[in-house]
Amino acid sequence: MSSHGSDEEEKPCRACSDFKSWAKSQKPPKPGAPKKDSPPKPTRKDCPLDKEDLGQATWGFLHSMASYYPEKPTKAQAKSMTQFFNIFSQFYPCEPCAIDFREDLKENPPQTESRNALAQWLCERHNTVNEKLGKPEFDCSKVHERWKDGWLDGSCDS
Ligand code: FAD
Repeated sequence: MSSHGSDEEEKPCRACSDFKSWAKSQKPPKPGAPKKDSPPKPTRKDCPLDKEDLGQATWGFLHSMASYYPEKPTKAQAKSMTQFFNIFSQFYPCEPCAIDFREDLKENPPQTESRNALAQWLCERHNTVNEKLGKPEFDCSKVHERWKDGWLDGSCDS
């Protein structure tokens, strides 16, 4: 195994932690690293994703994909979408999140027979995570407003 590979194994998992916990777990800077009085990085936008960033970006992708899924998928499309979620759950970079998601998928396999079935199923999966984290439940009747059509009050129209 390359030294690069073993270095990676020693690093704490940033995608499994919030940014503050991850930053606290970091070692002091190595000699030669930029000093504290170097200009700070302007933003974190070019840095690796922490658990929250990764979760927000991933849910955005997954819900958008569900809201644009065919209303009447072919059997092959439905099968592919089921496979997608099973594969996704093996490789989601936050390992503790992925373990729980795989358990949830066992009890609640993807509903891929239509766009609405998939979007509602995914909304429920997200609500399961919300509940675990003490976040508010999302109203799944509004999932297409949130992720495809924009809110009925027109606030996304301009
Ligand atoms: P998010 O939960 O990221 O939601 C983003 C936006 O989605 C919200 O602003 C809202 O507009 C919309 N939304 C909210 N709920 C729903 C819903 N039910 N349906 C449709 N839209 C909705 N974090 C952990 O700490 N532990 C975990 O075990 C964990 N497991 C995860 C598993 C998966 C598969 C994913 C993708 C993420 C997981 N996360 C986990 C991350 C976590 O779900 C959040 O993404 C993260 O905490 C940031 O939350 P947030 O409040 O910014 O909004």
